[in-house]
Amino acid sequence: MLIGAHVSPAGGPAKAIERGEALGARSIQIFNQNPRAWKPTIYSEEQVAEFREAMAQSEVDALLIHAVYLLNAASEDPEIREKTLTSLIASLEAGEALGATAVVLHPGSAKGGDVGQAIARAGATIAEALAQSEGCALQLENTAGAGGTLGRSFDELGALIEAAGGDERLGICLDSCHMLASGIEIRSAEALTAAIDQCISATGKGRIGSLHCNDSMMEFGSNRDRHADLGEGQLGAGGCAVFLSEPRFNDLPCVLETPGPEKKGPTKKQLAEAFALRERGIKERS
Ligand SMILES: [Zn+2]
Ligand SMILES: [Zn+2]
Repeated sequence: MLIGAHVSPAGGPAKAIERGEALGARSIQIFNQNPRAWKPTIYSEEQVAEFREAMAQSEVDALLIHAVYLLNAASEDPEIREKTLTSLIASLEAGEALGATAVVLHPGSAKGGDVGQAIARAGATIAEALAQSEGCALQLENTAGAGGTLGRSFDELGALIEAAGGDERLGICLDSCHMLASGIEIRSAEALTAAIDQCISATGKGRIGSLHCNDSMMEFGSNRDRHADLGEGQLGAGGCAVFLSEPRFNDLPCVLETPGPEKKGPTKKQLAEAFALRERGIKERS
């Protein structure tokens, strides 16, 4: 498992590799545009070359690009869907240029409207983004389920993949905090095994492509999305150890999106603790 962290790409994507290295990360995740503005980033050839060189010389072996939260592929407003499409295509092109494992996307929100229609709209937007880009995978992240967000259950993720045409570039990013908050029990090896079995039967084989390991400040089934440092929330150290040692996750990038002691993201020490939790989980399974 390539355990890593969400880091800032300020100063260019090669700087994100430096930040990952400083943390001892084996994978990193970045936003590829300002999270508060509809302005897709196009990386220059020089930035791409610098990034690829930095990555080749580092211990960081995987990059995830997280699409920003402004995007809503399911919006009832055609203008928002159009802006979402433009951003998503730019993210997939950036992912292809930088050699990313995937672009990770929150599937969208029904905002109180009909969920079936929202899934159809999201599917159409996603299918169009795939049609207008090449190569890079697009992985839909499961959500905590607040405020009509799509992707709160494996069945919804499966319906989204189907609505988007079932393209082989489509996959799933599983967030441990969101699973627990949406009412999916994962705090024992048996429970997590059953949950992944369900995920695979609902979304298809080979779809799970990346992971977010976060503890959850909010209770099981609360539908509230508040990340906690590993071991400090409702998953606890034991639940995090289970998630980090799941055999079917062995080859995947797994980034921490945790607040950290200073609300600046996880520290080097916390990343080392995550690697240790994985070892603890492996031991407890044998
Ligand atoms: Zn996310
Ligand atoms: Zn996440």
